[in-house]
Amino acid sequence: MVARVFSAPVNRLITELNRLPGVGQRTAQRLAFHILRLSKEDALALADAIREVKETVGECEICFNLAVGPICKVCEDPRRDPALICVVEEPSDIIPIERTHEFSGRYHVLGGSLSPIDGVDPEDLHIAELFKRIDGGEIREVVVATNSTTTGEATALYLADTLRERAPDVAVTRLATGLPVGGDLEYADEVTLGRALRGRMRL
Ligand SMILES: [Zn+2]
Repeated sequence: MVARVFSAPVNRLITELNRLPGVGQRTAQRLAFHILRLSKEDALALADAIREVKETVGECEICFNLAVGPICKVCEDPRRDPALICVVEEPSDIIPIERTHEFSGRYHVLGGSLSPIDGVDPEDLHIAELFKRIDGGEIREVVVATNSTTTGEATALYLADTLRERAPDVAVTRLATGLPVGGDLEYADEVTLGRALRGRMRL
């Protein structure tokens, strides 16, 4: 009903912004008014940036990371270890891993996680393409960095089981789970603390 006071183009902008994740109706209105206050140049720069990513950015043919052109920047980089592959669910998962500066290998983006209830089976993810990369024979280790959710864990188990049979020489590892840095034991939930205990390391 508030919408009635705005003109159709303003409502359209609010509706589109409201479809973004984490943007509720009020935030959408605030952003729309911010855009209306921008200079025409600045507002069109935003619209152009959206148009440009949609027109130029696709998927890497090798790892399914975002790429301009057929191959992504990581796959193109000769300094990245081609024998080490980190498997993630989405391209956005690569950013936090890159931020650690701890990983020098390459990636493989599955495009989601296994969830039979939602109808997501192995053939719906880029799993066959992962196996094909491994069958190439160059891979030494696969680091499974799927999320620590029910579906992420199920995906990790599936990959570990399948790879054990298919490529017994390839080491399959999983990201360790444990206590957050600076966290108190007192506040850790029992699942996290239990895993931290099982995954304990010699000092
Ligand atoms: Zn790539």
